[in-house]
Parts: sequence; C-alpha cells; structure tokens
Amino acid sequence: MIDYHLHSHFSGDSVEDIEAYIERAQELGIQSIAITDHLDPFPDKTRDLFLFNKEDYFKELEEIQSRHPNFDLRIGAELGMIPSLVEENRKEMARYPFEFIIGSVHSVDYQDIGSGEFFPGRSLEEAYRLYYEAMLDCVRLYDFFHVLGHIDYMDRYVSYISKDTKPLDDTRFKDLITAILKEIIRTDRGIEYNTGGYRKSLGHGHPKAWILEKYYALGGRILTLGSDAHLVKDLGSNFDQALEEIKKAGFKEIFSYKDGNFKGESIL
Ligand SMILES: [Zn+2]
Ligand SMILES: [Zn+2]
Repeated sequence: MIDYHLHSHFSGDSVEDIEAYIERAQELGIQSIAITDHLDPFPDKTRDLFLFNKEDYFKELEEIQSRHPNFDLRIGAELGMIPSLVEENRKEMARYPFEFIIGSVHSVDYQDIGSGEFFPGRSLEEAYRLYYEAMLDCVRLYDFFHVLGHIDYMDRYVSYISKDTKPLDDTRFKDLITAILKEIIRTDRGIEYNTGGYRKSLGHGHPKAWILEKYYALGGRILTLGSDAHLVKDLGSNFDQALEEIKKAGFKEIFSYKDGNFKGESIL
C-alpha cells in the first residue's frame, strides 16, 4: 500500500517531522509514501505561506532517503495551480528533480478557497462553476503534474458561506468534470483518491463515487491514494473505507509512480 499525499513541516500548515511519517507508515505496513508539500505561488509575492525553500527541501529529503535505503520515499509536491502562472511554474518545477507532482486547484481568480475568501459575493452555483472551469483550464495548461488532486475539494469549504450550507450536487457540472477527466486520460496522467474528505465529515473521499465511476467508465485507470495528512496520526486514515469505494467503482489497482512510470498494485 502507498500514501501519496502527505504534508510535513515544509508546508505552511503542518509542523510534522518527515521521519515520523516513515515510522508510522512502517507500523501500518505502508511500503511507499510521497511527501507532497504545498507549493502555491501567487502573483502577489507577499502570499508565501504555502511556499518552501526547494534547496532545503531536497537536502533534507535526500538525506532521509539515504538514511532509509529500504523504504520507498518519493520527493513530491502539491502544486496549487493558477492558469496565468503556468510558464513560471513549469520552469521552476523543472529546475528540481521532483519525483511526483500532484496538481491541485486551491484558488480561483487569485482568491483562496480553503480560507473562505473565494465565497463572499458569489452564489454556490457560481463558485462551483468557476472552480471547475479553472480546473479544466489548469488540466489543459499544466501538462507537467502527474495526478490531479482532490477533484471535488470545494465540498470541504462551503460551510464558509454559512454553517448550514451543504455541498452542491455537482452532477450539474457533469460536462465540465467529464472534460477534465477526459483530458487527464488522454494525456496518460491520473487522479488521486484523497481521504481528507472523511476527516471533513463529508462521508466520502475525493472524488465522490459518481466522479470516480465516471473516470473508470471513460477508461481512466491511473489512481493514486493519499490521506492528505498534515498530522502523522492521519497517515493512512480511512484507507479501508477508501479501498471499498475504489473497488466498488471498478478499480482493481492503485498506482505508485517511480522514475517516470506509473505502476499498478492489485487491491483485490
Ligand atoms: Zn490540496
Ligand atoms: Zn494536500
């Protein structure tokens, strides 16, 4: 088993030690993990909470890899994608030997979703539509990420609108979401199943069942699994439930990524 979405002290919203993740993974029998710390460049350079020093990052992670030669540790990143910054990001990411890149949409129109600043003055319908439109743009532009992160991530944060606001039924954006999935499949990339949704009490991981089923029906097979843990205790969280959901949607394998290739591992 793998956990391919983890945040350490290099992320602005985590303080965790990387070797503690390795220890926890070994306790749980998880053979491979990817540290995927946040990189969310904004045109406004004052917003640097979700950036890290890449020299320090590679130095620390490569040292840890050499201390644990028998453990499969991927040096990754979760890139927060913004359409206008694609060329800058492409150049910057290519300067470093990232081994696994999750492409995520965390903001739309330079407004952060996870802090709630994106919601004021917008209907839920508009917020979702703009989010999925931005995701389609990013999937087309950013051809250098490996898996698309937490597709229905918006669901986590609608409570910013009011505490009783429930996620919108996103089947109404089926055409947009289908276009996103088709582009991922056409370009031989994958999506992740992200168990952070369970911890946000959504009752499912990301993406939810119909999107996962749609991806499978369109021919999508490349699926990674990640907890999106910001705390060591959350590594591997809800993986039993997640695997049930994944199998129910038809998948027979979970994929790892090494040296430029996805490799399936049976989950049956
Ligand atoms: Zn994310
Ligand atoms: Zn994350």
